[in-house]
Amino acid sequence: MAFRTITVIGAGQMGSGIAQTFAQSGYPVMLYDIDDSAINRGLSSIEASLSRLVSKGKITEEERVLTLGNLTVSTVMDRAAHTELVIEAAPERMDLKKALFKQLDQICTANTILATNTSSLSITDMAASTNRPQLVIGMHFMNPVPVMPLVEIIRGLATSDETFNRIKELAIAIGKSPVAVNDYPGFVSNRILMPMINEAIYTVYEGVAEPEAVDQVMKLGMNHPMGPLALADFIGLDTCLAIMETLHAGFGDSKYRPCPLLRKYVQAGWLGRKTGRGFYIYD
Ligand code: NAD
Repeated sequence: MAFRTITVIGAGQMGSGIAQTFAQSGYPVMLYDIDDSAINRGLSSIEASLSRLVSKGKITEEERVLTLGNLTVSTVMDRAAHTELVIEAAPERMDLKKALFKQLDQICTANTILATNTSSLSITDMAASTNRPQLVIGMHFMNPVPVMPLVEIIRGLATSDETFNRIKELAIAIGKSPVAVNDYPGFVSNRILMPMINEAIYTVYEGVAEPEAVDQVMKLGMNHPMGPLALADFIGLDTCLAIMETLHAGFGDSKYRPCPLLRKYVQAGWLGRKTGRGFYIYD
């Protein structure tokens, strides 16, 4: 096995999905969060997902038990000291991610690879907050992680070939399809997806159509499996806003300005599925 121990930082929807995926592939994973209740929510969602897979006959009861046995959780970051790979999945804020990378650089052994699941932020910038920029890389999973095959792999300016190759091989080892892209705002996935979602929000903001109608048009007319507003709610509207702000600041082009309605929803705490309300209302 290329990596004997993996630490995931952040037990939200992405961190818990990443931890589940590695644990299912037989890797011992430590899931860290600053917040106890986030860890409990993350673990419950992993347990629910594994139980669903058993009831659908996709994994056996034994595999469910083995997967849970591969997982440990903690709110103590020092426990990451001897891990061989860290995958950071904390909120999409550069100040937070840089502070985490600085701390991890001090805690972890000299050859630990520090990867980030950022959706849009500069890998080069995060790497510069460490003394090991050659070991820093973007490993961008898609949501829901256990289901979606793509992993965008993003090299920072100083990422070494060895780091890149090890992460690419790891992605293949867990059954994913890695695609290498360069370090520019939003990479490829969110450079293309997020302006479409932002435009869908503008159509609601300008009264062109109701959210249901916008999503119907894109599902029935463009063959999208999910409408852009349902997808925005699924991703999290705070994450969507953060990505649009990164594109806007990074390219300095007004075509990336975030829709005021998106900003207003985030200010109201309507973040989509994770808070029970976004463009739709959830139980
Ligand atoms: P989330 O809000 O569901 O989870 C974030 C977690 O980080 C929370 O559990 C929070 O308690 C924790 N956290 C906050 N500060 C922390 C700290 N200092 N140390 C450790 N944990 C901390 O967010 P998410 O949707 O899982 O997104 C996480 C990252 O993944 C972001 O960078 C996001 O852009 C990226 N991403 C998101 C999606 C998506 O569809 N949501 C897809 C791909 C990538």
